[in-house]
Amino acid sequence: MSIETPASTNIHSPKGARPVGRTITLTVDGVPVQTIQGKTVLHAAIEAGVYIPHLCDYHDLTPFAGCRMCLVEVEGMRGLETACTVVARDGMVVRTNTALARQHQRGVLEVLLSDHPDRCLNCPRMERCGPFVVCQRDDTVTDRCVTCPRNKNCELQRVVDFVQWREQRFFNPRRIGEPERSNPFVERYPDYCIYCARCVRVCDEVIGVSALGLAHRGMDATIAVDFEKPLTESGCIYCGRCAVVCPTGALMKADSKYGATPTESTTPSVCTYCGVGCSMFLNTQGGRLANVMADREGASNHDNLCVRGQFAYDYAQHRDRLKVPRVRQGATLVDATWESALDRVARDLRRIRQAHGPDAIAFVGSGKITNEESYVLQKFARAVVGTNNIDEPTARYCYEPTLRGLHESFGSAGATIPTRDLESAGCVIVIGSHTVEAHPVLSFWVKRVVRRGGRMILIDPRATEMARLASVHLRLHPGTDLSLLSAMLKVIVDEKMIDRTFIESRVEGYDDLAASVASIDLAAVERETGVPAEEIRKAARLYATGGMDKRYPVPGSLWGEIVWPGQRTDTSNSVITYASGVAQQADGEAIVRVIASLALITGQIGKPASGVFPLAGQNNTVGSVDMGCLPNWLPGHQPLSSEPARAALEEAWHRGIPAAPGRDLDATVEAIERGEIKALYVVGANPARSIPDTERVLAAFRKLDLLVVQDIFPTETAELATVVLPASSAKEKDGTFTSTERRVQRVHAALRPIGESRPDWRILVDLAVRFEEDADWCQRQFAFAGPADIADEIARVVPTYRGLAYDAIGIDGVQWPLIDGATGAATLYESGFERGRGRVFPVRASSGAVLPDASYPFIGIFGRAQLWNTGAMSARSRGLTRMWGEHRAQVHPSDATRLGIGDGDLIAIASAHGRLEIRVSVSDIVAAGQLFVPIHHPDANRLLASRRTGRGMKSVALAITRLAGPAPASPQRSEISLMDLPLLPVARPTRG
Ligand code: SF4
Repeated sequence: MSIETPASTNIHSPKGARPVGRTITLTVDGVPVQTIQGKTVLHAAIEAGVYIPHLCDYHDLTPFAGCRMCLVEVEGMRGLETACTVVARDGMVVRTNTALARQHQRGVLEVLLSDHPDRCLNCPRMERCGPFVVCQRDDTVTDRCVTCPRNKNCELQRVVDFVQWREQRFFNPRRIGEPERSNPFVERYPDYCIYCARCVRVCDEVIGVSALGLAHRGMDATIAVDFEKPLTESGCIYCGRCAVVCPTGALMKADSKYGATPTESTTPSVCTYCGVGCSMFLNTQGGRLANVMADREGASNHDNLCVRGQFAYDYAQHRDRLKVPRVRQGATLVDATWESALDRVARDLRRIRQAHGPDAIAFVGSGKITNEESYVLQKFARAVVGTNNIDEPTARYCYEPTLRGLHESFGSAGATIPTRDLESAGCVIVIGSHTVEAHPVLSFWVKRVVRRGGRMILIDPRATEMARLASVHLRLHPGTDLSLLSAMLKVIVDEKMIDRTFIESRVEGYDDLAASVASIDLAAVERETGVPAEEIRKAARLYATGGMDKRYPVPGSLWGEIVWPGQRTDTSNSVITYASGVAQQADGEAIVRVIASLALITGQIGKPASGVFPLAGQNNTVGSVDMGCLPNWLPGHQPLSSEPARAALEEAWHRGIPAAPGRDLDATVEAIERGEIKALYVVGANPARSIPDTERVLAAFRKLDLLVVQDIFPTETAELATVVLPASSAKEKDGTFTSTERRVQRVHAALRPIGESRPDWRILVDLAVRFEEDADWCQRQFAFAGPADIADEIARVVPTYRGLAYDAIGIDGVQWPLIDGATGAATLYESGFERGRGRVFPVRASSGAVLPDASYPFIGIFGRAQLWNTGAMSARSRGLTRMWGEHRAQVHPSDATRLGIGDGDLIAIASAHGRLEIRVSVSDIVAAGQLFVPIHHPDANRLLASRRTGRGMKSVALAITRLAGPAPASPQRSEISLMDLPLLPVARPTRG
């Protein structure tokens, strides 16, 4: 079965949930200015290029009118108005440049500056002062301009210059505060604070963390962390957004201090960690990556990054980077030339294929390489070698159940709405996702649902930070998700909260589903899941009504019921978002089908801010799936079993494609053990760490005749390799990534390749030329000069990417599928499904949760923490490792007391499959009898059985033994060495 191109079916919509107001015209300083209704005078003027001095306003914060700098005259209004709070109206006449406005602005500024160091603002030598000039006339070192970390990138300087302030009549006693450098990411310099409260408001309104607050009053007012402790003792998530919005040097990103020199260049790019796909700019200086800045209008992140995106880019320049090819000689890998290494790989692959057939070779792809590289890899496997033995770890373990489940339900698989739609929903269910740490920027949008009076339902065995905000927290026993969601279906069916019209016109299989849920006993589900039946009913009712069920009025939340201008509070749309906590369970595909069924029977799909939102783990997991890096799926989500799909590819490639499905990763390990697979070719992955049952995987890999690893770092897999080929990182190459919201985004080379490393596509093309016997065919099929050529072929042969013009992909990217050949589809299934009608399935019994026993009395929960996956990149980020380099398990206080375990103690964790040693945090985030194990620990997968046993990867029975007390204190984190000083300062990049 091939999938119709959406351009011809036209069942999707380019619209998202964010409303677009009508255009109005006002006059600013005599010039007509067009803007969207609802904008403030300040924003309308700035967009029209008219600068109005302001310090507390910021584009995505609620109007505050705290600094009083943006005073303007408005015809028909008495006196002066603050432009940041006056909403622009059609025909309004505004004057910004009057004597009265300037006079008041200078007066306000004088008060603001009464306790700010002012040498940088009024020094007569300012124009001639270079960044390293030692100024003789200054009296103290601490307030000389070149010592201000924000120097020359300071909004206060701009305001001072604009209003021509040069005289200071008021002097408060200086509020000298000690700089705080408690962490490697964000530094505080309290002297420079002007109390605009941007940092406090952004942390509260946008990030939803509230790590900062305004403390004290009057002369003693200050920006403070709770109880005036350092940031390390707050809930700070180190996203750096407070430092980005700070108009002075009071809060600084540690990598962006002393902004005296303009950046050498800035390059649009995309974060290379999670699937949110945050858009950013890479700032380089002297050929090195110095820092990054979030894209203010980024489609999914809108000026936000998390700590990984903001600060953990430095892995790309780590000294461990592979720089030259290496070939095994005996027990060691020795440096080699590209020619000799590629010749060796081609020769050995040919030998193995001749002796044992193409299926004796298997390939492992990556969720980190570009779409173009994934496409070339699977084409090499299928068309050159002749095998479907290709799999990708993040797709296999995080996304494949989604692909199957949603494909069966809708006919295609992908998030049905854009990321930013989440915040506009009336109700969001978060299940199987530690969103705050796995997909942090997306968690900002989910938290905003609660802020706006909507409901968030968290289904999670742990009481994570999201639980604090959840309207309903269903704290289920690990592994009982299928039973819980099936019970929610039952409640919706029994209480007739279905959307009958939607079902009759667009859904099939409802009667069978309704019959299957009839026998579900909520009391039994309560016993199995540990969730009270009434809580299950509440969650089902809130979901079905989009949070509008009148039985459950919105309680006074942490944030009250603040309604932001221009945003809705009365939506009745619901979204379900989920991640690997669902996909990695034994019941993963069945759970995905129930999630789709919940959406279909309630009509919560096919409209903005409503639908199903799977969260892809790695930055290009979705792209690797789209490109067909799976053993039973061809590019464009076409099943391998589809003869038309195979025929279309064969026609494009002029070569046959094997019809038999290839082996997935777990089956590959078994085939290696049996001697059926002799060669493994790994691109950008670390299967020695990421496949469960590590001991067995390592033993299997040692049996291989040929193990080729193409990567940027010497991973555990590379240590076993026959040949290691150095690849370029995403910062050094062009291409596209596809985020979890189906957005195809361009990345551009900002750095020259490290050492002799080459882009992955280049290596594969060079290898194809050496391996392929039909030189003419190879010349026609692999003569790619660059990613643009590959993207052109993708646009011809991959249905979901059909018509996508590589050079036309702008900084916002494009969401597949395309509508009308160019516009991306924001909302899927507005008027139909790819398969015609959406399909719901009868529910089936859960395969059973993992239960503790006498030997293994704890249930281990596996999940993400601040590092990332196997740590190949994140564990080589200096900041991340300084803060979180020591992996910690979490144990409940009652269990810790019973076992005599204290915070920081070293424990041994054993399962039926393996053992690891780890330090422990005592925390009631986990329930009694449970233990959280971060997947980033090098030995985490030793505890898990192979997926071939039919078990999931999320929970396993464990035993704990205390080994030793806490480690000796580590060096003071606040000590910043000279090596930590910034490479350069930055100017705010623009999208132009
Ligand atoms: Fe990167 Fe994900 Fe963080 Fe965005 S949320 S900055 S994509 S890790």
